[in-house]
Amino acid sequence: MPSAPKWVFDVFDRLLSSKSSSMVVSKVEYLSNTVKRIQFKGNIKKLNFGVGSFIDFRVSDTEARRYTVSYVNAAGGILELIAHLHGEAPGSSFMGNLSVGDKVNINPPRPYKYYDPSAERYIIFGDETSLGLACSFLPVLLKNRHPFHFYLELAEENKNIASLLQLENCTVFTKNGSFGNEKWLNDLPIVQSPEWQQSNFILTGNAKSVRAFRKVLKARNQGKIISHGYWLEGKKGL
Ligand SMILES: Cc1cc2nc3c(=O)[nH]c(=O)nc-3n(C[C@H](O)[C@H](O)[C@H](O)COP(=O)(O)OP(=O)(O)OC[C@H]3O[C@@H](n4cnc5c(N)ncnc54)[C@H](O)[C@@H]3O)c2cc1C
Repeated sequence: MPSAPKWVFDVFDRLLSSKSSSMVVSKVEYLSNTVKRIQFKGNIKKLNFGVGSFIDFRVSDTEARRYTVSYVNAAGGILELIAHLHGEAPGSSFMGNLSVGDKVNINPPRPYKYYDPSAERYIIFGDETSLGLACSFLPVLLKNRHPFHFYLELAEENKNIASLLQLENCTVFTKNGSFGNEKWLNDLPIVQSPEWQQSNFILTGNAKSVRAFRKVLKARNQGKIISHGYWLEGKKGL
């Protein structure tokens, strides 16, 4: 529910108050002009986290937006996310305005079944909004020795963020609409390669790219496809 009257969100806040945590922004870091990593500190021992868990932040009286937990250290009370600042929309402005010392109410993270330990290989696709998911996946992929590859479509100014985040096995594409082009997608080595056709594909980010990629993969690949559009042009929240 991205938008609702103030009283509705007030009721939700009251209902969730025993389960949520009050945290303080302990660090902010601009990975580029439009990508910001934000660290929160507080007691999160009662919260449960999994790969790709996301949090619904109340970003104004009447708006809530989803952000992925990119890193968590429950014992140390540290949680991080990576926000794409794409303009003056409520989520982007809220994340853009957060600075060290700000207090934020953190709702319980919501799980999503992106990770299946029994799957052998993983292809993880997304854009700036998926950087948190990639960071959340990386340790478990390495620990459990899955062959994996990240495919990211990023704006020119964000192209070196994958190496800043030490995302291994990562191919970065310029965000220019190619991932909406089924013919171009079909020619990608990862789609053509028999080796990768049994992979689990996790498709997130721009819903238009996700839809086109899914369609192409469904026609050729035998692996499982998990698609979760994170934003759609012209639509508020998702
Ligand atoms: C499960 C889940 C996890 C997510 N995790 C993250 C995360 O970790 N980091 C993150 O940055 N985002 C994440 N997102 C995406 C984020 O919630 C959306 O981008 C959201 O729309 C941002 O809210 P907003 O108020 O800034 O823009 P909105 O008010 O929702 O949108 C206004 C307009 O801006 C445009 N728009 C929205 N998002 C983008 C964008 N990223 N780039 C360009 N144009 C955009 C659309 O045209 C839209 O109509 C996640 C979404 C989901 C569903």
